[in-house]
Amino acid sequence: MRLFLIILGVVLPMILLPSELTLAQAPKLPCATQQVVEGALARQPELRENQRRAQAELRQKAQARAQGRVASNDSVRVIPIVFHIFHNNGPENLTDRQIQDILLILNRDFQLRQPDTARVQRVFRPVMGNTRLEFRLARRDPQGNCTNGITRHQSLITYAANENMKDVVSWDTDKYVNCWIGARIDLGGFLVGGYAYYPGTAPAPRYEGVVVAANQMGFIGGSTTLAYRTLTHEIGHYLNLAHTWGSTNEPGVAANCQTDDDVQDTPNCIGVSTGGCPLTQATCGPLANVENFMDYSSCDRMFTQGQSDRMRDALQSTMGSRNNLWTPENLIATGVAQASPALCAPKVQVASTLRNICPGQTVQLLGSIANVPQDTGLQLRWSIPGAVPATSTERNPVVTFPTEGLYVARLLARNSAGADSAALPYSIFVAGNQRAYAAAQAEDFEAPAWPQAGSNSYNRWQADTAESAAFWRRSTQAGWQSPSALQGPADLLQPGERLGIASAGYDLSQASPDAVLQYKYAAAAQTPTDADRLRLLVSTNCGRNYALRILRQGNTGPGAMYTTSRLASPNWRPSTTEWRTERISLQGVAGQADVRFRFELEGGGGAGVYIDSLVVLVSRLTAVATAEARSTLRVSPNPVQGSATVQLPASGLAYRVVNTVGQVVASGMAPSTQLVLDTQAWPAGAYVVSVGGATHMGSCRFVVAHLGQ
Ligand SMILES: [Zn+2]
Repeated sequence: MRLFLIILGVVLPMILLPSELTLAQAPKLPCATQQVVEGALARQPELRENQRRAQAELRQKAQARAQGRVASNDSVRVIPIVFHIFHNNGPENLTDRQIQDILLILNRDFQLRQPDTARVQRVFRPVMGNTRLEFRLARRDPQGNCTNGITRHQSLITYAANENMKDVVSWDTDKYVNCWIGARIDLGGFLVGGYAYYPGTAPAPRYEGVVVAANQMGFIGGSTTLAYRTLTHEIGHYLNLAHTWGSTNEPGVAANCQTDDDVQDTPNCIGVSTGGCPLTQATCGPLANVENFMDYSSCDRMFTQGQSDRMRDALQSTMGSRNNLWTPENLIATGVAQASPALCAPKVQVASTLRNICPGQTVQLLGSIANVPQDTGLQLRWSIPGAVPATSTERNPVVTFPTEGLYVARLLARNSAGADSAALPYSIFVAGNQRAYAAAQAEDFEAPAWPQAGSNSYNRWQADTAESAAFWRRSTQAGWQSPSALQGPADLLQPGERLGIASAGYDLSQASPDAVLQYKYAAAAQTPTDADRLRLLVSTNCGRNYALRILRQGNTGPGAMYTTSRLASPNWRPSTTEWRTERISLQGVAGQADVRFRFELEGGGGAGVYIDSLVVLVSRLTAVATAEARSTLRVSPNPVQGSATVQLPASGLAYRVVNTVGQVVASGMAPSTQLVLDTQAWPAGAYVVSVGGATHMGSCRFVVAHLGQ
């Protein structure tokens, strides 16, 4: 499907989630060059003179050529290009291979080498234009260092990318065509495919260049499927081409017959506003060239000779410094003077498919080598002490970690020009021999040692990225019945951004099939239209895969996200009535030796969520354990006066004492098989002490009576 959105102000009803943003399925989005340029001209009227001068210059040159006063200069012009990729490790982080594909399409489009030029309508074949421009990935950065012409920036900017990318990185725009790529190009809520400034109309030189959404690019996943040629279109604008119907926002309107693109061989037309390929369109009289790259049709596959001349003329102009890009000095400075570049030393980056696993599980290590083509005598060596294997010469080896621990992985790359090495920026965390929790054992987030859970330092709550780790926090201001809770400050999330945290492992091998995960949560919106989402997922394989168990979203209905109708501010504190109890069946999970729960919060503008009092409830553990616990758990004396001694079935068990209305009056870890409770301050009445552990669980009722009562 191809979808066009033409009129500024209409917002596509489409919010792509980062993990759901697949490059292959994206609809084609409109170009925003006209809006962006007009915005800049409105804010800086002095730029209008630049545009007027550039247009006049190109008009003069076109006239001189038409009158035969200048010969066409047909020499090949090489132009250095750099891609700045802003990503959050999603599919928008285009691979080096994908960038090479994109560049191939761009050059074929500009050199009339695309196979589909054979399908151009007969009437337009005589005016097809070959620009003889060749774009090459930069081989030297502005400091003269080796580069592969691709810079990568992990940043949440990618979800609302626009001029903000240029504030982070911009290479000298008189030396390179800068191409900035983000997951979503967002002009104040208006999603577009891309845009570029006409020469000299950018607010400052560093903003000259083109911006394109990753999912509007040419090749998909390195395959040979030809998709959108948005980059070709935007570089047309960058070299001072207007849309074929003229410099307006709107294709498809009759008024466009009165505007022109200043190119003599593109017939007067209204432009294609509905997508598709209306080859017979002739609204202004002559047959329209809907196959032109500067129209919005679905069959764009040519520039005209007039457009080609105009772009080459723009490269002769000082406006926007386009005339410096192809000079011999600049080709040397940017390292693209020769088609095959000098060999540079490799630059290593590393990652892994997983960072938290159980003993015996496998992880794939991912090596990426910048600056060098893949086949230039490159030697690779991973070293992963403690893993099996502990070394590898593969680029992406699969390794196993047999025992608990923290593991470092480092990759060394070497060629005849030099060497580089890099280690994973985190340790592979292997834990799970001893689980942090058992059934009936509650996590109330009161322990300051959190995210460590329990005494084994390998038992931890785990965030899977640095962003997640910084995001999910332990609040000591807003707990359920006790001061602390897990806090997810939704106001810090970009719309659609999803950050998760996973619990330490639960040993539910002894839990009955009717086990239920129970927790309290509180969530509030800031405005009536907020739309956060909270997901709970469950893993039974040490966090390798998670399955969704519940999704909370929206304001109303049974699946509603918010637990209060009150509109709140960030860091709000829920009142007692604003907490909701969530109970999730663990059918199919109970009986597993390692169960992990993962909370994911997806941004939608809300005030934030709190989670507390997480516990797996069971009707029984295994018969043996229950009988053992029942036979051993004793409170004496009973009734209690002063202090009570509780005999436990084992040491190191978590305990909890509740009164008749279910309030917790005491909880903690018993230091030994004996627990002493000071009951002097407790009101007289009945209490239940419960203990839980990997193989023990039991409860015992007792009564507190005070003297004289
Ligand atoms: Zn455009």
